[in-house]
Amino acid sequence: MSRSTIATRYWHRTRDKRVQCDVCPRSCRLQEGQRGFCFVRMRQDDAVVLTTYGHSSGFCVDPVEKKPLNHFLPGTPVLSFGTAGCNLGCRFCQNWDISKSREIDTMSDEAPPGVIARTAAELGCRSVAFTYNDPVIFLEYAIDTADACRERGIRAVAVTAGYICSEPRAEFYRHIDAANVDLKGFTSEFYRRVCLGRLDPVLDTLQYLKHQTDVWLEITNLLIPGLNDSDTEIDAMTRWVARHLGTDVPVHFTAYHPDFKLRDRPHTPPATLARARQIALGNGIRYPYTGNVQDAAGQSTYCHECGGLVIERDWYRLGVYGLTDDGRCARCGTRTAGVFDGPPGTWGQRRLPVRLTPPAPLDEGR
Ligand code: SF4
Repeated sequence: MSRSTIATRYWHRTRDKRVQCDVCPRSCRLQEGQRGFCFVRMRQDDAVVLTTYGHSSGFCVDPVEKKPLNHFLPGTPVLSFGTAGCNLGCRFCQNWDISKSREIDTMSDEAPPGVIARTAAELGCRSVAFTYNDPVIFLEYAIDTADACRERGIRAVAVTAGYICSEPRAEFYRHIDAANVDLKGFTSEFYRRVCLGRLDPVLDTLQYLKHQTDVWLEITNLLIPGLNDSDTEIDAMTRWVARHLGTDVPVHFTAYHPDFKLRDRPHTPPATLARARQIALGNGIRYPYTGNVQDAAGQSTYCHECGGLVIERDWYRLGVYGLTDDGRCARCGTRTAGVFDGPPGTWGQRRLPVRLTPPAPLDEGR
């Protein structure tokens, strides 16, 4: 095995002598030497291995609002990275150069978990995010990195589509502090036809996170003109969120731009995002946001009790800040849902690409 290939444990042998990966609902049944749909897990020596342990497609320090997480340590920097591959096949993928990468070489940075944690600490990041592609497919690497970060008081964020089976999901989220789950649409047909997946497992993950973990949860819904942006669908989705997850889960409606295999749709008009936000508000969602457009009013947070502005945002830059250090409205004392720990950060909207310093020979960092 190469340094980046490690044994995994969520798989079993089938009666027809294949090996089935049990990490995600895709349940790839593999012959010797065959890779799964995600490309990074494969059958090798009659077992399923992960081939991208300790390698990354690149690092960047972002504002945590860019994940997007609006109620998790606002204004702070997060060290973000991904690997290669993905377990969904979204035709509109906005990170397809990474998610569809079949070249392990594109993952230029060798990045042991300990080195990532040390780098995050040195850069003053309050959290590390597994993003750009889905951490579900590299969960062993993500877990070790999250643990190394937690040892330094740095939290772990998962940006994910939530397409994962129940057993690995329980293990994975024991190590995670916050998640943004991409709810890509609200019909089975959209998931099947456009994402090559299924909706139900994602809804299961959302309910699991909300009701069986302490992970802070926010949802993103990318609205694509003519595909998943009807009033009916947004109404059904936000009703479901309010009923099954509660009204405190923030929902981000974000704008699509033509990409990958889906280029025949126009950019999402800002009016669509504003309309979605109004529908969500009408269904009781307390914190609906617009994203990827200029809309300070739609990206700011308001106290659900007195209606006062508590966090002003313009893209990822914070303005007026009307919360106490533990997240209470400075005007009426009502708590805003989320993870608030001290005054807001001052990172602003900067994006800082980072190269990791290679570990010293005796410091494997793992
Ligand atoms: S994690 Fe990868 S190999 Fe495993 S079932 Fe999902 S797509 Fe297939």
